Amino acid sequence: MKILADTHVHTLASGHAYSTVDEIIREASRKGTKLVAITDHTSGMPGGAHDFHFMNLRAIPEEIYGVKVLRGAEINIIDYEGNVDAQEEIMNEVDMVIASLHPPCIAFAKKEAVTSCIEKVMQNPLIHIIGHPGDARYPLDFERIVKMSKETGTLLEINNASLKPSSFRPGVRESLIEMLHYCIKYQTHVVVGSDAHIAYDVGEFKESYNLLQELNFPKELVINTDVEALLTFISKKRLK
Ligand SMILES: [Zn+2]
Ligand SMILES: [Zn+2]
Repeated sequence: MKILADTHVHTLASGHAYSTVDEIIREASRKGTKLVAITDHTSGMPGGAHDFHFMNLRAIPEEIYGVKVLRGAEINIIDYEGNVDAQEEIMNEVDMVIASLHPPCIAFAKKEAVTSCIEKVMQNPLIHIIGHPGDARYPLDFERIVKMSKETGTLLEINNASLKPSSFRPGVRESLIEMLHYCIKYQTHVVVGSDAHIAYDVGEFKESYNLLQELNFPKELVINTDVEALLTFISKKRLK
């Protein structure tokens, strides 16, 4: 299995990441990654990018060093009603939107509250991916989440950074094992993202490959093993 698109990458604009677009795309090109989505944090994250950052992403060429560049955003879920910190104007402007739960943007909560929140977020036609599900501080009923993912065409992410020993997020591995079992049961697609905060980590998916292999997870359900399949999947969401 080879992941050909990295759907989750941060630049200097995120406020706590350390590389430029040029450094990131050079590294992706060197590694043979065919597509990179630049997904900086929106303004609800302390130090996150201003709205103008996202409105001006069209300044970035669509292809650099042979790598296709998607204009994206990682937005913050800010309450348990499923509200987010980005206006529709911004979500419409970019090609791809990841929505995530991050401290300090939202307090930790119990399973029922977090699950119904994520169900609502997935029903938002402008949101394509749920970023790093599996953080035990935001527990989920994965059967419900996977069913809603299938119903709404929203991708659940295997976040490589969260699987590393250096991760800030507890319990991710155990949660993802449960999630992936349901993804097999319901034949639901997932997406793998590096969540790189520095260029060296772009296109690095070692921990995710190990987990997928361990579970014998079908390659066909990992949407970004095929760039065209990823782009088609994402374009369908907004048509719903
Ligand atoms: Zn995140
Ligand atoms: Zn991120």
